[in-house]
Amino acid sequence: MSAEEKTMGKGARKCIRCGSHGPIIRSYRLNICRHCFREVAPAIGFKKYE
Ligand SMILES: [Zn+2]
Repeated sequence: MSAEEKTMGKGARKCIRCGSHGPIIRSYRLNICRHCFREVAPAIGFKKYE
């Protein structure tokens, strides 16, 4: 078995910003968690995200 098979399986996603697992925002191909999304939201035009 190859170790690579584990890295790309479904459920392997995690925040690319802080590296935590959890609710990942995949909109706009961000792949970041909700916490990080709130921090970067103003920068990408999401001022009303709560
Ligand atoms: Zn994060």
